[in-house]
Amino acid sequence: MTKRTKIVVTLGPASSSVEVIEEMVRTGADVCRINFSHGSYQDIIEQIKNIRAINKKLDTHTAILADLQGPKLRIGLVEDNGVELVEGKEITITTEECIGTAERIYITYPQFPRDVKVGENILIDDGKLLLTVISTNGKDEVRAVISHGGILSSKKGVNLPNTKISLPCLTEKDLKDLEFALSQDTDWIGLSFVRSAADIIELKHLIQTIDPSAKAKVVAKIEKPEAILEIDNIIKETDALMVARGDLGVEVPMQEVPVIQKMLVRKCLEQSKPVIIATQMMESMITNIAPTRAEVSDVANSVMDGADAVMLSAETSVGKHPAKVVEAMTKIIEHIEKESPIYNRDNAAPEVNLHNERFISDSICYTAAKMAQRTKAAAIITMTHSGYTAFKLASHRPKAHIYVFTDNLRILTTLNLVWGVKGFYYDKSISTDHTIADIKFILKKNGYIKLNDLIINIASVPLSEKGKSNMVKLSAVE
Ligand code: PEP
Repeated sequence: MTKRTKIVVTLGPASSSVEVIEEMVRTGADVCRINFSHGSYQDIIEQIKNIRAINKKLDTHTAILADLQGPKLRIGLVEDNGVELVEGKEITITTEECIGTAERIYITYPQFPRDVKVGENILIDDGKLLLTVISTNGKDEVRAVISHGGILSSKKGVNLPNTKISLPCLTEKDLKDLEFALSQDTDWIGLSFVRSAADIIELKHLIQTIDPSAKAKVVAKIEKPEAILEIDNIIKETDALMVARGDLGVEVPMQEVPVIQKMLVRKCLEQSKPVIIATQMMESMITNIAPTRAEVSDVANSVMDGADAVMLSAETSVGKHPAKVVEAMTKIIEHIEKESPIYNRDNAAPEVNLHNERFISDSICYTAAKMAQRTKAAAIITMTHSGYTAFKLASHRPKAHIYVFTDNLRILTTLNLVWGVKGFYYDKSISTDHTIADIKFILKKNGYIKLNDLIINIASVPLSEKGKSNMVKLSAVE
């Protein structure tokens, strides 16, 4: 399989067994997402054990993304698990726990009556129900008119697109889940409902406080209008981004989502940060054995936009055909990557600035990508300890394959999320000349490159200093 765009699969009851995960990895899954909104720690331990066993068996580097729930708002239980909210009628929303009725419902957000203002919208169940605030007592009750009614069942999610929510970015549950995820050494930590760059800074600070040796990187999930307003700073602080279109499409008018998606992908590529497109990509395959044509187009367009990864949620977590969905997604990706002009992004050359400690390695990556384009090189091979050159190189979207050799086992799985990156473990360090020749030999022997291919090596010389990339070499395979 030679696809460049990665696939993130969400694990759940339909896909936690070692057999199903293996099938999904064989058909194209690159990252397993563990959704902390569901499942017990015992389940998660089992899932992680299974992923790692498969990586050993198949010699793959499937990454693990621990997705924290964040301050997700919900209503409580309702009578008979379904009450009808009638348009035009009024309803009380209380912060005192109760069994909900058509006149009074509970919300899991203690500051709600203080934060909300008259005229603001309350969306329930992915926006299926719409209430408008008519008064608040500033303490424990809010009155609202039902602007769009329907059946309300228990524990449905609530979105408040106009309200400045004063809840912290990590709830008590998230803190416990974060500690647990770090104890399991997951590669990526996803943060839901990010509102500002400060949320990312806080999460990174917490990760270091909980475990100063932690290497987990952060995925900022973009699903709030506030995050869009502060997007440049968020991208600067985060390690990767997720376009979480489910909640995003409720928080902002749904017709705005495609434009926002394209804007987020472009900005992430400019800053060399991986970006995942998520939610409802192959939704009909939760039950059907083939996607709709519209879903095929959605995946294809995300690949054409330049996403690093496309994600499956319910399709793999509770769907009927987890491996078939991955297989179908892989087919779409492979075809688009063959037929569409998605390669060789015209990234700006790095600004000459000797005070920027990354200037030299950024220039090396830029030059390697340009050289690969001009010479039609088959591969760019980089040796890296931190993974930095892999992120940077990938953002140029070279047509040449990106082969990353590292002595750092930890980044092999982390990098599995990144567009086009194929990682290899390599820990010999005799000399630069020896390493380059040895790697060429390994790649040729395993069929990744062939006689007379041009290849480009990126390295740091002298090798022994393990410094930043400062050398680029073009040679032919003999
Ligand atoms: C989404 O809202 O699109 C999303 C990915 O979030 P969740 O974690 O709720 O699936």
